[in-house]
Amino acid sequence: MYVLKYKAQHEMNGRNLILFSLFIVSISTVSRTIVALLRPEDISRIFQNSSVQAATYVTALATIILISNGFIMMAKERSDEQFRTVAMKDKLTGCWNRIKIEETSAQEIERLRRYGNQVSLIMIDLDHFKSINDRHGHAMGDLILKGFADIAGSCIRSTDTLGRWGGEEFVLLLSSSGFPEAIAIAERIRTTFANHEFPGGCRATASFGVALCLSTDSWEDWLARADSALYRAKEHGRNRIEVEGVELSEASSDRVSLQVLQLIWRKKFEIGNPVIDEQHKAIFEHANRIINALSDETSPINIEEIFIDFIRQMESHFSDEEEIMKNRGYHYVDKHAEIHRTLINRSYNILNLFKDKKIGVTDILHFAVYEFVSQHIITYDRDLAGLF
Ligand code: GH3
Ligand code: MG
Ligand code: MG
Repeated sequence: MYVLKYKAQHEMNGRNLILFSLFIVSISTVSRTIVALLRPEDISRIFQNSSVQAATYVTALATIILISNGFIMMAKERSDEQFRTVAMKDKLTGCWNRIKIEETSAQEIERLRRYGNQVSLIMIDLDHFKSINDRHGHAMGDLILKGFADIAGSCIRSTDTLGRWGGEEFVLLLSSSGFPEAIAIAERIRTTFANHEFPGGCRATASFGVALCLSTDSWEDWLARADSALYRAKEHGRNRIEVEGVELSEASSDRVSLQVLQLIWRKKFEIGNPVIDEQHKAIFEHANRIINALSDETSPINIEEIFIDFIRQMESHFSDEEEIMKNRGYHYVDKHAEIHRTLINRSYNILNLFKDKKIGVTDILHFAVYEFVSQHIITYDRDLAGLF
């Protein structure tokens, strides 16, 4: 663990020491040259004992010592860096291990919160692996694990992070990717792996669970959603991909392409408080306006206005909902209010990025439909139903 933390604290110290020594030696040389040019008669004194001479020798000696130390430190830093990489790699497959995955996921979550970059997680589990080991032997099992890592590695981009989570489970972090990109990559890995023939004609398949990170997610929340999607993939017959999320409309079987989606309010979404339910219903309608704005090519200025209205509606709804929760003595009101604040901050962040043309209307749509309606109103707010 020490080596893993070492880099951040002592990065480039060796190089800095060498540069510092060279700087000192240059100053000493330059000043001696200037003195020699201005007072040439002094040159004859170079070979005589004097305090200037003594200072020069001491500087030269100190420089030699500092430069040697600098080189030693650089060599150590390099070997620490190599050790750090080795310590974060899985020996069998060459993929990253949990330490690296957790480190990268923390950076990705931070980037999502700051800049609104979408990031997806795919959890993968090889199918019936125990029986592959039983039938073909553990060595073949190892070969297949390695083969899977190679195939998955060849299907991803250099910015993606593939890790072995443990046993025959892998995780894949896809930077700057929403559902469509994540599903496309998962499908490419799934088919390439399923069609690959290992020595002795042995074949294997894998199941995939995809989850998008939400701004309110911790790593554990995000992982749990990918895991439950993976569980569904296993339940539905393996060698397939499942995407987490609530099915918003039974009329729409296509949860990936949001353009064709219309949010339909259903009785099962009610939590039993007329004020909250009415407001939730109105938010559904407003989210539909954003969806329509996308499909009928409304101008960016109008989309901005629709989204500003949406944020205002969200803020006033949050304050009413928090008031009701307090009056009802809800235990988790602080935690819930904290999530409201995160959502509001994120919505303003998205608005500013959209104004600066750094993100598109699909990111606004994703926030409104997926993060807010699907994950907050329909899923998180369900907990309030117990209050009424
Ligand atoms: P499922 O389709 O439900 O995932 O079934 P499964 O058999 O893959 O699941 P289970 O979790 O029961 O078995 C996982 C097996 O993976 C058991 C274990 O022996 C094997 N395994 C875990 N790590 C390694 C490894 O490093 N090498 C080999 N060869 N096998 C491993
Ligand atoms: Mg398993
Ligand atoms: Mg398995």
